[in-house]
Amino acid sequence: MAQDEFAIIERYFSSIGKPAGNIALGIGDDAAVVDVPPTEQLVVSMDTLVGGVHFPLDTSPADIGHKALAVNLSDLAAMAATPAWFLLSLTLPQNDADWLHQFASGLSQTAETFKLQLIGGDTCQGGLSISIQIAGLVPAARYITRQHASPGDLILVTGELGNAALGLAHKQGRIDLPQNLQAKCLLALNRPQPRLELVPFLREHASAAIDISDGLQGDLAHLLKASGCGAKLEQLALPVNDWIGQQGCYDYALAAGDDYEICCCVAATRRNEIDSWNRGHPDCRLSIVGEITRSGYFLHDGERLIDLDNAQGYQHFD
Ligand code: ADP
Ligand code: MG
Repeated sequence: MAQDEFAIIERYFSSIGKPAGNIALGIGDDAAVVDVPPTEQLVVSMDTLVGGVHFPLDTSPADIGHKALAVNLSDLAAMAATPAWFLLSLTLPQNDADWLHQFASGLSQTAETFKLQLIGGDTCQGGLSISIQIAGLVPAARYITRQHASPGDLILVTGELGNAALGLAHKQGRIDLPQNLQAKCLLALNRPQPRLELVPFLREHASAAIDISDGLQGDLAHLLKASGCGAKLEQLALPVNDWIGQQGCYDYALAAGDDYEICCCVAATRRNEIDSWNRGHPDCRLSIVGEITRSGYFLHDGERLIDLDNAQGYQHFD
């Protein structure tokens, strides 16, 4: 595919996203050149999606283009950074014009929505894999990490948990979702929405944050380790759709992947600020799902206190 590489880049990837003010040199040279304003810091991250591993191979190319960028944007949101630019490393089994056109349009739409520019990358032949390196800006020292939660902080999550995993389970025939939830759950799987609207709230109020890509239980555990704290989660407070609530299968919300919601910690004195956020953002509501403690990691399920550090007897979603 080497001889086609330049044609592919020129045709599909030379103008993706909004031309941003801080790009001195974009695609076309040996490397790109970017400016970082003196009062800001660069926040960088990278995530790879492998076909058949991170998405089913029959996923539409436009959805793959969206999701590859969305999962990276979600990492920036968790750090309270504003997207600036990205690099794309694309490995393709073959030069399929129709696939490339749809992939580039999905990618392009999402890059426009979140106002960042594709400034370079690499293209080669092999099994389908998409790596994106993303960069965002944050006013100096205003980034949020997993590290500074303290006992007494409330644990919050955006949106609803478990919908993407339900969408995947339905698609694979493992469950039979009611008609009224199918479209919503498949959308959650294929079109995750990075929570960048939460960035101002995080900068103002959060002590720590993480994006939920592998299930709340595991991802919150990373935050607890980094902060040197424990937590108690309230199962009935988890934001889930009616089906999960009725069936009692909270594993989809706790231990399944692909939510791309944000989990953050906020001092309990800021309940008014949380309420006020929720009044103004019905599509990105924050739910209080538990509290940071000194040590231990427990889930209160209404009757029992389940030890999540030694989760014997606790049925993990597979
Ligand atoms: P080199 O051989 O010097 O590494 P390449 O031929 O790989 O350069 O790339 C030429 C230009 O095209 C570079 O600016 C590179 O960043 C860009 N590019 C290559 N592949 C992609 C891609 N998939 N998306 C965006 N830009 C790309
Ligand atoms: Mg190269």
